[in-house]
Amino acid sequence: MTKQAAVLSETQSADAMLRERARRVVPGGMWGHLNAARLPAGYPQFFASAEGCRVRDVDGREYIDFMCSWGPVLLGHRHPDVEAAVRAQAALGDCLNGPGEVMVDLAEDFVAMLPHADWVMFQKNGGDATTACVTIARAATSRRKVLVARGSYHGALPWCTPSVAGVTTEDRAHLLHFEYNDVASLRAAVDQAGKDLATILVTAFRHDMGRDLELPTAEFAAAVRHACDDTGAALIIDEVRTGLRLDIRGSWETLGVRPDLCAWSKAIANGYALAAVSGNDRFREAATKVFVTGSFWCGTVAMAAARATLRIARETDVPAYIRAMGLRLREGLASLADRHGIAIRQSGPPQMPLMLFDDDPEVRKGRAFCSAALRHGAFLHPQHNMFLSAAHGPSDIDAALEAASHGFKAVRELRP
Ligand SMILES: *Cc1c(COP(=O)(O)O)cnc(C)c1O
Repeated sequence: MTKQAAVLSETQSADAMLRERARRVVPGGMWGHLNAARLPAGYPQFFASAEGCRVRDVDGREYIDFMCSWGPVLLGHRHPDVEAAVRAQAALGDCLNGPGEVMVDLAEDFVAMLPHADWVMFQKNGGDATTACVTIARAATSRRKVLVARGSYHGALPWCTPSVAGVTTEDRAHLLHFEYNDVASLRAAVDQAGKDLATILVTAFRHDMGRDLELPTAEFAAAVRHACDDTGAALIIDEVRTGLRLDIRGSWETLGVRPDLCAWSKAIANGYALAAVSGNDRFREAATKVFVTGSFWCGTVAMAAARATLRIARETDVPAYIRAMGLRLREGLASLADRHGIAIRQSGPPQMPLMLFDDDPEVRKGRAFCSAALRHGAFLHPQHNMFLSAAHGPSDIDAALEAASHGFKAVRELRP
C-alpha cells in the first residue's frame, strides 16, 4: 500500500478506495450498468462474498439481496448442490480441447424440459444467445428484418445495445420496432417488413427499466405467433432474464404459445457463465449451417452447474416457491406504504418485482427509499426489476420489510 493509500484508508471506506484505484485503470471506474454511481447514494460498487440470500460488500456490510447478481442467482448464492457439482467437474478439467460428456447430458436435460425444443446449443452470455437466435432465423429464412419491441433489452452488442456510442446506423439497419402488448403496432411493423421479415424477437414480459412491468396479454402473445406463422418468420423469445423463474417449460407455455427459438442465460447455471439457444426442428438445419462459437463455450464446469440447477428447479418447483416469497414481499410493501400514506405501484410477476412511487419523475422517492433500506440491510433497486431466489425464506422477507419501513420513513421526510 502506498503512503497515500494508507492515509486514505483511515478516512475512506474500502469501497471508496477501490473506486479511486479503479478510476485510474478502468475506464469510468466500471463499465455498463454495474457502475454504482448509477445507483442511489450509499450503494457499494464492490462485493466481497455472498451466501444464500445475503451479499457482503468490501466494507463488511451485509445485505439481504434482491438483485441476485442482476438475475444469474436463482437458488441462492453458492447453493451447496451446485457447488458440489462444480467442484467435482473442476477436478476433471474445465477448458478442454472440446466439449465433455456433460454437454450432451445437459442438452438432453434442456430438450426434456422444454416442450418447444428439439435441440439446444450453448454459449456464455445472454447476448451471445440472442445474437445466435437472430443469425439462425436469418439463415433459415434468407431474410433480413428483425422486429423488436421498443425499449426491450436484448444485450449489449452493436445491433441491440441501448447506447448509441460507437454504433452505426448500418448496425441497426434491419431492425423494426413495435410497442410491447400493442397488436396494432405489431401488425404495422410486420407489414412494413413485408417479405423480408426474418423474425419477431420478444422478451417473455415487458421489463424495461424505470417503467411499470407488464405481463404479455394472451391476445398479444397469440398475435406474435400468428404473425410468424403467416409470414414464415421465426418467433424468438428472449428468456435470458425470465428463464426458470416463471415456468421452467418456458414463460409463454401457460399462454399456449411456443417459440421457434429461445435464448437463455442468467439463472440457468445459478451464477456460472452459461447461455443457451433452444430451437425446434424447422431451424435445425440453419443452426447447423451458421458458424457460431467461442473459446469458452464448451466449459464443463458451468454445464455441470446448469445440470444441478435444472434438476433442483424441476424437483422443488422453484418458480412456485419464489412466487410465494415475492407475494409475501409485495403484500408487506403494500401494507407498509399504506400505513405511511405513500402511493406506490407494484408490477411484474412476484418472482421479479418492481416497486415505483407515484409522482416520482426523477426517482427522488425511489432513491431515498432504497438508500435508507440499504442502510438497514436490504439491497433493493428503485428502477430495475428485482429478483427473488429460492434461498429467501419468510424470515428474510420480513427482515427486508423491516428495512423497507425505514425506506418509507425516509420518503415521508423528503422535502418537496
Ligand atoms: C441480461 C439480458 C440479456 C443479455 O445477457 P448478457 O449475459 O448480459 O449478455 C439479454 N436479454 C435480456 C432480456 C436480458 O435481461
